[in-house]
Amino acid sequence: MSGNERATVVVDGMALAKELREQLRQEVAARVARGHRPPCLAVVLVGDNPASLSYIKGKRRACERAGMRSVEHDLPATASQAEVEALVAQLSADAAVDGILVQLPLPKPLDAASVIEAMDPAKDVDGLHPQNAGRLLAGLPGLRPCTPLGILEVLGRHGVSLEGVHAVVVGRSNLVGKPVALLLLERNATVTLCHSRTRDLAAVCREADVLVAAAGSPLLVKGDWIKPGAAVVDVGVNVVEGQQVGDVDFDGALGRASILTPSRGGVGPLTITMLLHNTLMAHRRRTGA
Ligand code: NAP
Repeated sequence: MSGNERATVVVDGMALAKELREQLRQEVAARVARGHRPPCLAVVLVGDNPASLSYIKGKRRACERAGMRSVEHDLPATASQAEVEALVAQLSADAAVDGILVQLPLPKPLDAASVIEAMDPAKDVDGLHPQNAGRLLAGLPGLRPCTPLGILEVLGRHGVSLEGVHAVVVGRSNLVGKPVALLLLERNATVTLCHSRTRDLAAVCREADVLVAAAGSPLLVKGDWIKPGAAVVDVGVNVVEGQQVGDVDFDGALGRASILTPSRGGVGPLTITMLLHNTLMAHRRRTGA
């Protein structure tokens, strides 16, 4: 190792997720032993998008292993907006359901925002309802989106200090970029939120002590965009020539970043873990401590 080179800690998201899921399993078991019913997550799938089917399978398995119930509601891709919203409203009114997850993306021409608005915000375990988004903006407690929570967990578990540091987030989606920027701000980081119109993205990234890449653009962030010692979280999941790659040039980041999440086995396992966390949180609020 020479000059700017340093040992980069490659984050093992699977190991971290396993540890957190075991803690959640124990908490669920303790609640059930005290006489509560197990937390219940209702999953709504519209159509048969193969990627969605695979994500849902992973979520169902994770729920079962944590001792939670997962109930799937499948609608055909031809379902109307009114049918999907009626199902979400019915699950919102169902006292046996703690959390509702509508698997995105929805088939065209369904309007996902309107479906999410039809949901009881107290059951919105994806943290996407405008009321939960607003509560995050206002610094009020509420359900937060899962991937941003997972990113904060990774940084916290690796001892990355956020107080006063410059955090750069690439991507401004409601699902990842905006909420993670707000969570970083809440932890007193100085946050720059970048997007496709940002001028000289490379220069902005080079200023980052903490860099979160959530653009969905393969290998966008080059090794020499990374300030030596920066903590780098690569959220991107892209498939190039049959291979999964992130938004960060992984090999270029090695030896520069202090910690680095790989595209596969990095943030992904934490996202599902935070879904379990949110379902338990919603259950706790509904059934009492
Ligand atoms: P999205 O809704 O498509 O948003 C992408 C954002 O990145 C947009 O704000 C876009 O800017 C910005 N962007 C795109 N290309 C850019 C470029 N060349 N330079 C700067 N900014 C650029 O995506 P998303 O849902 O946030 O997801 C982002 C990535 O994370 C995807 O690869 C997705 O698969 C992955 N993801 C992973 C997990 C996980 O658990 N591992 C969870 C969620 C998402 P504009 O707003 O200007 O268009």
